Amino acid sequence: MTQHIVNVSGGKDSTACYLLALQSGRPFRAVMADTGNEHQITMDYAQGLAAKTGGPEVEVFRADFSERIAKKRRYVAEKWPLKGVPCATIDRALEVLQPTGNPFLDLCIWKGRFPSRRAQFCTEFLKSEAIQQKVIDVTRKSATVIQWLGVRRDESIARRHSPMWQTVRTPGQHVMRFYRPLIHWTAENVFSFAAHHGVDPNPLYLEGMGRVGCFPCINASKAELRAIWRRYPDAFERIEDWEDIVADASKRGAATFFAADVTPEGARMARAGISGARGGPQYPRAKQVAAWAQTDRGGRQHSWLIDAEDDGVSCTSQYGLCE
Ligand code: SF4
Repeated sequence: MTQHIVNVSGGKDSTACYLLALQSGRPFRAVMADTGNEHQITMDYAQGLAAKTGGPEVEVFRADFSERIAKKRRYVAEKWPLKGVPCATIDRALEVLQPTGNPFLDLCIWKGRFPSRRAQFCTEFLKSEAIQQKVIDVTRKSATVIQWLGVRRDESIARRHSPMWQTVRTPGQHVMRFYRPLIHWTAENVFSFAAHHGVDPNPLYLEGMGRVGCFPCINASKAELRAIWRRYPDAFERIEDWEDIVADASKRGAATFFAADVTPEGARMARAGISGARGGPQYPRAKQVAAWAQTDRGGRQHSWLIDAEDDGVSCTSQYGLCE
């Protein structure tokens, strides 16, 4: 027996994958990992696919870090005093080392830090592991699994050599195969395929978002951050709230969502070893990064030219969705 599983994210590629699976006539399950950092528009879009197309409901899964946080609590209480960590730091960490139910925040509380480009553990724990444990491992006990992934080679250099098919064999489990049916497609192919099936893109693309995963993603470009700040400044408020909580959970008392070297000022402060409010380099805060995203190339002047460009175009999507 073979079980087809389509990974849905609410983005354009996974939507095309879902439609392709539907078009193939094979029965399939559609699954999505909610990181807790998605925009509600994306969640609604993904979960609305079934009603729009007559396909299967998108099943949403969330990673759970309760056990890991409980273990970290015990570690902090028992081991940090032996390492000479100040009592105030330990008390503060124990206060926030509680599961909040938001996977992204809980992951960062557990780790005592945010993910970064060099330590991009978010994808692994929030997406891969959540789907692997809750769906794939369970299914592979009784069936061969074919996972459909909306990956295209022209998306990035890292994906340039992705194969269309890949087989994974694990002792005691049925075979799993990754299938990347869009591997040779362009972004334009993806959008026109969805349009052909009468499915509009995620509305966030029409608001200028280059990608619609985490909102924001730690890897968001300056233009993407600018687009988010213009329309959804509350996203940065939420991230700053998270920064405070994760800072409390960390031994050094500081944690920022974006890397210090994202902004010239943050890079300068990191180089100079300038300390933040609690003794660690607490720069740049999320709203400082948002302010920098409004600046011109040098990163110092607020750019009125950028304002004029953004305000003067009705559809700012970099995929050119205006027809
Ligand atoms: S979208 Fe960005 S922040 Fe979210 S899991 Fe992926 S890399 Fe991490």
